[in-house]
Amino acid sequence: MQHRIIVLGAGYTGAIAAGRLAKRLHRDDAAITLVNAEPDFVERVRMHQVAVGQDLKPRPFTEMFADTGVQLRLAKVTAVDVDRKTVAVTDADGADELAYDTLVYALGSGWNAQGVPGTAEHAYEIASRPGALRLRERLARLDAGQTVLIVGGGLTGLEAATEIAEARPDLDVALAARGGLGGWLSPKGRDHLGKVFGKLGITAYEHAAVSAVAADHVATADGRAIPAAVTVWTTGFAVHPIAQATALEVTGTGQIVVDGTMRSVSHPDVYAVGDAAMAMGAGDKPLRMSCASGTPMAWQAADSIAARLTGGKLPTAHLRYFNQCISLGRKEGLIQYVTADDRAVSAVLTGRLAAAYKEVICKGAAWGVANPTLGVPTRRHRVARDRAATGSVARATA
Ligand SMILES: Cc1cc2nc3c(=O)[nH]c(=O)nc-3n(C[C@H](O)[C@H](O)[C@H](O)COP(=O)(O)OP(=O)(O)OC[C@H]3O[C@@H](n4cnc5c(N)ncnc54)[C@H](O)[C@@H]3O)c2cc1C
Repeated sequence: MQHRIIVLGAGYTGAIAAGRLAKRLHRDDAAITLVNAEPDFVERVRMHQVAVGQDLKPRPFTEMFADTGVQLRLAKVTAVDVDRKTVAVTDADGADELAYDTLVYALGSGWNAQGVPGTAEHAYEIASRPGALRLRERLARLDAGQTVLIVGGGLTGLEAATEIAEARPDLDVALAARGGLGGWLSPKGRDHLGKVFGKLGITAYEHAAVSAVAADHVATADGRAIPAAVTVWTTGFAVHPIAQATALEVTGTGQIVVDGTMRSVSHPDVYAVGDAAMAMGAGDKPLRMSCASGTPMAWQAADSIAARLTGGKLPTAHLRYFNQCISLGRKEGLIQYVTADDRAVSAVLTGRLAAAYKEVICKGAAWGVANPTLGVPTRRHRVARDRAATGSVARATA
């Protein structure tokens, strides 16, 4: 009997988890199915590049998972029933139900409008490929001198503002941040960011909490009206509502609460990784939604599942941060070194070297998806007989 593992979502984390499990488990003993709505891998960390017209290398899953043992199921996940251990999906042929013994939930996230009025009607987003392509089409139609306002001063907002300003120097690009520009960076990091903003002619509206979006401007909580022919909304990510509709323990924002092995704290047959999961990092701080967190989470989940199924040793790695890699257009960048729990230290890398470093990181992230053990040869272990049967993993290893 094969142990049925279903991985939901083939973004950075789901694809890594599925591929790594396939390298750890004997093919006769485990059936690994990866369910994804799209037929190709989306490099989400490059959506601001897509928005300004850059084309990314196509990465079809049929190539990525050829001969790996991972079965790809192209379908949209509509629901999960953690009591019956089934997943409801729809595809071109209609609705279907998939049964699992172990589930890895990796459906990622989308943009987070935070309920601000006017966002749905007037704002653009770059958290998804359809969103980035919609913005690309709109930017291409803008005339010189028109204003693009990026709302959100986090990593995505900084990357979007600088990318657009560099690609379209004819536009008037601005950014509205709730706090100071790059407030969490070290003084050297903030100084560099300010210089790049200056060079690219980006206007920064600081301490500007946007409270409403209209067709041609945004309003701030302190009564300002900031003009914007196009508003790009980048104030964090929100998870899809599927997990929240299950009996799984989730946070108030719908992330699945997991332990250090990425296993649900309420349902031991379920693991969650990436943006969809809430795991603790160094200093007992929640990991932030990012590839930087998600990639080691996916390794940890796959290695934990494999260990529990095969009677191996559970991984003991502690998840931590090293740096924040921020592209500032194609020619500039900022690598802000951080503590294990993600607080800026004084060291930074800037300029073209930082831009090149960030490019290597992005390329490496995509390479890591196709090479889930980072090229290290691995042995496929047999699943312990008593653990292959439905439900026995939870009992055997609780
Ligand atoms: C513009 C931008 C820049 C970023 N830059 C960085 C960066 O520099 N560094 C960094 O660490 N992070 C960065 N991030 C964040 C990073 O992209 C995410 O944290 C990361 O993609 C999360 O990985 P994931 O696997 O959890 O989810 P995703 O990559 O979002 O993958 C989720 C997958 O699930 C699929 N899916 C979703 N719903 C369904 C459904 N109902 N049915 C079937 N399939 C479904 C999606 O199609 C997708 O394939 C950036 C994000 C953006 C938008």
